[in-house]
Amino acid sequence: EDVLLEIRDLDVLYLGTEDSANVKACSDINLAVRRGEILGIAGESASGKSTLLNAMTRLQQAPAVTSRGSVIFHEHPGADGVDLVGCDDRAMQRFRWSDISIVMQSAMACLNPVIRLRDQFFDVLRAHDRSLGRARLQDRAAELLQMVGIMPDALNKYPHELSGGMRQRALIALSLACDPDLIVMDEPTTAVDVVMQRQILNQILRLQQELGFAVVFVTHDLSLLLEMADRIAIMYGGRIVEVADGSTISENPQHPYTRGLREAFPSLVSERGKRHGIPGSPPDLRRLPSGCAFNPRCTEAIELCSQVRPELTVLPDSIAACHVRRMEADDIAAHTILEE
Ligand code: ATP
Ligand code: MG
Repeated sequence: EDVLLEIRDLDVLYLGTEDSANVKACSDINLAVRRGEILGIAGESASGKSTLLNAMTRLQQAPAVTSRGSVIFHEHPGADGVDLVGCDDRAMQRFRWSDISIVMQSAMACLNPVIRLRDQFFDVLRAHDRSLGRARLQDRAAELLQMVGIMPDALNKYPHELSGGMRQRALIALSLACDPDLIVMDEPTTAVDVVMQRQILNQILRLQQELGFAVVFVTHDLSLLLEMADRIAIMYGGRIVEVADGSTISENPQHPYTRGLREAFPSLVSERGKRHGIPGSPPDLRRLPSGCAFNPRCTEAIELCSQVRPELTVLPDSIAACHVRRMEADDIAAHTILEE
């Protein structure tokens, strides 16, 4: 299996001040991104998704710090990786855009407001290949914009002269400029325009099939995630509670929280249109319940669930952190051995 990026034992803290404690927004994250795959990350608001994306791309800012773990980037198949957590800013520059591109929640935050698109494209392209002359730069920038359905004359514009959707697409074009191996996308939580979001993600998917880069993306639209992602990681209370193929998450999710999320999406449930939100609310990271953080909301919880935190366990179709599922799987395994 060809791993591109490997997150190992990652903890991310938001450092507190004199009168506020630290908040651990990501705990024990272990997750690999395979070359060319589309990996989706889902979970309720404040589950740590953006924190994780920022940490894995080294885009995080104070007060966030990666307090433990590593993010190993394998530039070439089979080659030894580079730990991005330990890497200095200069070295990180080398990876940004050319190996790892980032399309964040606010396109405006990634584009420079006082520089015309043309110069932003030229800068990124030149950083990758100094030999490019002006004519080649112009052609390449126009070609990139065309890939996302924007006319080349937009190159003359400043970011604020474009609509929100155009800006997002321009940023996608820029993120593709140096043919990266990985694009990380964090979708707006306040889906300003759901239709636009879908269009943009469809565009990425099309380009992904053409160019073969890997995508890690976050969206609140679970149906979109299920449609697009090869694999999906589900986060709850700063931890990954399940990782499985998109088809498993959509048809046979294992963690009770994943099941709950799925039920909460009307388009995924039967035509009867029954829709159940998960009762209760997401945990406060400062006061996580003991044991499994989901246990107070879980209809399947047993005593053990409030006592011992479940580890991620390999189940027949999924990897999930749930005592109940693990015990069921153990039972089945035991029966199989007895029958043999
Ligand atoms: P959403 O779906 O709403 O985007 P998310 O899953 O991306 O949510 P994060 O933005 O990663 O969640 O936030 C996770 C937790 O980290 C928050 O609940 C909050 O406690 C903490 N956090 C986030 N940003 C900061 C910050 N700048 N300072 C302190 N704590 C923060
Ligand atoms: Mg977020």
